[in-house]
Amino acid sequence: MKAAIYPGSFDPVTYGHLDIIRRASEIFDELTVSVLNNKTKTPLFSVEERVKMLEEATRDLPNVTIDSFSGLLIDYAARKDIHVAIRGLRAITDFEYELQIAQTNRKFSDGKLDTVFLTTSLEYAYLSSSTVKEIASFNGDISECVPDFVGRLLYKKYNEIGAGNEQ
Ligand code: ADP
Repeated sequence: MKAAIYPGSFDPVTYGHLDIIRRASEIFDELTVSVLNNKTKTPLFSVEERVKMLEEATRDLPNVTIDSFSGLLIDYAARKDIHVAIRGLRAITDFEYELQIAQTNRKFSDGKLDTVFLTTSLEYAYLSSSTVKEIASFNGDISECVPDFVGRLLYKKYNEIGAGNEQ
């Protein structure tokens, strides 16, 4: 049985992430999408909110599980006995950063954690959580970027914290 982890911030989950999740779930028997609880970043949504959004958005994918973790990915993967990490690549700018992380993870896990890259579907190449947050913070149209329920949660959040504060 082949299992993989797709780690990320998912703040919030976008159609770009969902495209990678669906494709990875077709390649692997089991996919764990895991929200990184990164104490050095100030996310817009809490880990619990992000987990809930991912659960809702992947309800139709039976072999996908949502989880969260803090600390090093290699330690988390070792605890779960999973040896493949999935990452998405949008542009050459992603590549340099992702290559460095992938090589670091491979080295410091003694070769136990490899990274498989899926390239973005072209229609989502422009899409990032930060862009979506910026547009939503000014009440712009994000219907082509995130599922409707995620959009509603974004507008609600910005109503609470004030427009233009995209975090
Ligand atoms: P990070 O994990 O770097 O904080 P994200 O949660 O935004 O950032 O992204 C998680 C993973 O999904 C990363 O590998 C990122 O490159 C990938 N990703 C994000 N947006 C897209 C997209 N539109 N198409 C393909 N992959 C994407």
